[in-house]
Amino acid sequence: MTSIHRVSQLALVAAIVALASGCSKTSGIGGSSSEATPETLKVNAQFAKELKLDDQQDFEDAKRGLIAKPSGKIVQADGTVLKDFDSYNFLQGKAPDTVNPSLWRHAQLNANYGLFKVTDGVYQLRGFDIANMTLIEGKTGWIVVDPLTARETASAALAFARQHLGNKPVSAIVFTHAHADHFGGVLGIVTPQEVAQRKLPIVASAGFMEEATSENVLVGTGMGRRSLYQFGKDLPRSAKGNVDTGLGKDLAYGGIGILPPNWLIFKPTQPMQLDGVDFVFHNVPGAECPAELTFSVPEKKLYDGAENLSQTMHNLLPIRGAKVRDSLRWSNYMDQALDQTKDAEIYIGSHNWPVWGNANIKKFVTMHRDVYKYTHDQTVRLINAGYTPREIADMVKLPKSLSEFFAVRGYYGDIRHNVKAVYQFYIGNYDGNPANLNPLPPQESAKHYLELIGGADKAVAAAQTAYDKGDYRWAAELLNHAVFGDPSSKAAKELLAKTYEQMGYMSEASTWRNAYLTGAQELRNGPPTKAPSKATLMDMLLQTPIERFLEAMAASLNGPDAEGKDFKVNLVLTDLKETYVLWIENSVLHFRSGEAAPDANATLTLTKDIFVKMIAGTGSIKDTLLSDDLKVTGSKIDLARFFGLIDKAPGTFAIVTK
Ligand SMILES: [Zn+2]
Repeated sequence: MTSIHRVSQLALVAAIVALASGCSKTSGIGGSSSEATPETLKVNAQFAKELKLDDQQDFEDAKRGLIAKPSGKIVQADGTVLKDFDSYNFLQGKAPDTVNPSLWRHAQLNANYGLFKVTDGVYQLRGFDIANMTLIEGKTGWIVVDPLTARETASAALAFARQHLGNKPVSAIVFTHAHADHFGGVLGIVTPQEVAQRKLPIVASAGFMEEATSENVLVGTGMGRRSLYQFGKDLPRSAKGNVDTGLGKDLAYGGIGILPPNWLIFKPTQPMQLDGVDFVFHNVPGAECPAELTFSVPEKKLYDGAENLSQTMHNLLPIRGAKVRDSLRWSNYMDQALDQTKDAEIYIGSHNWPVWGNANIKKFVTMHRDVYKYTHDQTVRLINAGYTPREIADMVKLPKSLSEFFAVRGYYGDIRHNVKAVYQFYIGNYDGNPANLNPLPPQESAKHYLELIGGADKAVAAAQTAYDKGDYRWAAELLNHAVFGDPSSKAAKELLAKTYEQMGYMSEASTWRNAYLTGAQELRNGPPTKAPSKATLMDMLLQTPIERFLEAMAASLNGPDAEGKDFKVNLVLTDLKETYVLWIENSVLHFRSGEAAPDANATLTLTKDIFVKMIAGTGSIKDTLLSDDLKVTGSKIDLARFFGLIDKAPGTFAIVTK
């Protein structure tokens, strides 16, 4: 194997790294957020009238057991602020005109940050990240449940706990499920060496590792872009911006890592002792997350509902996009939870605040059981009656007994989106109407609509009338056609931004509010120019099986460009002692592990670390270039051409504009 010359290596690596990238032509129209209109005020006033917003029980529960409140900021090594404990200080007093009063209440509840004593030997750190970290006192140290999203927030949370509770070591870790906000910070609380040396148990449900590492690699770019809308990451924290995410405050976009679990829960119910504490784990896969567990600690009369149970209706399909979730199975797990909580006096979860008292817990679980079953059953009833998703979304309303229970109101999920998820789960997106079998793409159809209406100005005038009447859904539909059909129309963008703002101001779901307000922000300022760096994911990506990257690479092959191309490349990973043959056939990139192919166009020999950095686009050209771990034999030109066929999506695509 011969090392190639530095100069040609530079050209090769440059070709690989500077892969095709799309660029957005749109720019924003500027301007600042509008005020709430009288119509919006009317809608918000109705919420205030119908709900018992002054009920204090949740506020008492959210504050109960507070030991200490953090202040200041959690900052990344490069100075990026991951968490500013003061950024939501504006959440005081009565709801402002620009926030739905029910969401305002929920946002205030989620603003109760701190270290809390839940019961003897059980503590929670809330508000350090979007999720909670729970500490259960074992014989020798802390059993840590869910170490947050980021290394930085997890380490700050644990340090804060140690400051107030004494300097105990971590004695075990429980990952309740395979979403990054519950495991990503693990390297902030232990090192892999510590886990090995001290034989620390890491508990998760069967399939955890596979699920945790698959979602982010294949569709991570598209989902990541859309998640900015769901979480409102780039919105100001203000009464006209981000007030909450439903599950908590900011998702920390910090360093995400993972450690493989060494104790798996695979039976429906599995008792287990961790550091002298008896746990009963319940395996609940395929509801909120493909791999999830809940658990009881009988001696403390404690039940942890993980994320199947939160202080909000959850998503059957998050608006960032995901595989659709099974509402009936979710409801069935809640039915089982009724049995599992029959002696429980304390409920805790992966998000939001706890519930105390057996009767309260029973009601809490029952309401969750029924909100998902009602959503499921009524959607199915209406499917069979011939209704389509958009109709069903307007038809299904919760009965009063459910709708007046705050913990199942839609602060994170929204029933109008959840019924569409049930529809999709059973029969897909297509509504059965042949008019929708092959409709024109949005921009094409928008142009035709504008021709018919007589141009963007006429559409804007009609939308203004709808806007003045508070008919924002119709205004948004018309203006969306105007913006897509005539991207030069500033008036259309301006009125659409104002329309989205009103829709955001009246949204009870924080995810919808964030989506509308992010839409408005991008109409005003344009889409982001930079996507969040994948470098922060590196600790997790390095634990991800190489096959996931090869699948992602295959799914990035530019099919039309690959037509008629016939390349074969050996990929030799020296550290893993694995060889893969990659080849293009019928414009499809295939891979197979095994022996190197003697007839390959080229052989690329490198370490997994460098390969992952190359594929994730995070390795600097210089680092890769100077590495002695990368060697090429065969045709370097063919290798560069091969990598030239792999598209690299920058993750900054436009959503509300064309
Ligand atoms: Zn979560």
